[in-house]
Amino acid sequence: MRKPLIAGNWKLNLLVEESAELAGALKKALKDVKTAEIAVAPVFTALFRVNKVLAGSNIGLAAQDVYWENSGAFTGEVGPAMLKDVGCSYAIIGHSERREYFSESDQSVNKKLKAVIAAGLTPIMCIGEKLEEREQEKTLKVIDRQVRSGLMTFPKADAAKIVVAYEPVWAIGTGKTATPEQAQEAHVFIRKLLAELYDAEFADSIRILYGGSVKPENIKELMAQKDIDGALVGGASLTAESFAAIVKNSLTA
Ligand code: PEP
Repeated sequence: MRKPLIAGNWKLNLLVEESAELAGALKKALKDVKTAEIAVAPVFTALFRVNKVLAGSNIGLAAQDVYWENSGAFTGEVGPAMLKDVGCSYAIIGHSERREYFSESDQSVNKKLKAVIAAGLTPIMCIGEKLEEREQEKTLKVIDRQVRSGLMTFPKADAAKIVVAYEPVWAIGTGKTATPEQAQEAHVFIRKLLAELYDAEFADSIRILYGGSVKPENIKELMAQKDIDGALVGGASLTAESFAAIVKNSLTA
């Protein structure tokens, strides 16, 4: 059984006290949830404070990105050990906004995944096609490349720690959600690929989240798909009301 994971990506939003307030409201609203894992990803500067607020709760802390070194002359970067130090248990890696605006490549995703696993954090590896790639019917080819290069040289024991997030770029922040069938088709393809790279039992154990304009109104039908194991939520994770509703509605699927 794969335990669902619902993760909120707060992106470049909220000052420290605003982040603490949102975390506090979620802690209260979601305190009884036991059948899903929950995580939130504030900006780096709010991680320490949010970790304090979430102490003793069922909500985990995630970073939105990470560098692959733990120390050295890498101005501006934050390493996996530092994320652990402030209480993170997850790191989002290869988000499409990192790939698009900050030159994140399949190779850097691979290095980050390795470093994060070595530090004992759970990586959430984001993959997904752009609109023009879908229109040119290249969706599965793009996903295939991203998964293979992301996991390149990974032994099964390490790959087993990864959570995959399928996020079609055209659905992120646009209000356009992939239909449950479109998402399921991609998830099945990813799972088959994981079975090919490792084995069927392994593929069955990996959680594959969907991301792209997830809302309280559409989470239920997405979660009803056999291969959708949770969600990575952007915009709708910025208020306690909508994120809590997404988590709760996901449970009733
Ligand atoms: C995301 O940032 O990963 C995301 C899916 O954003 P949104 O929910 O706003 O589309």
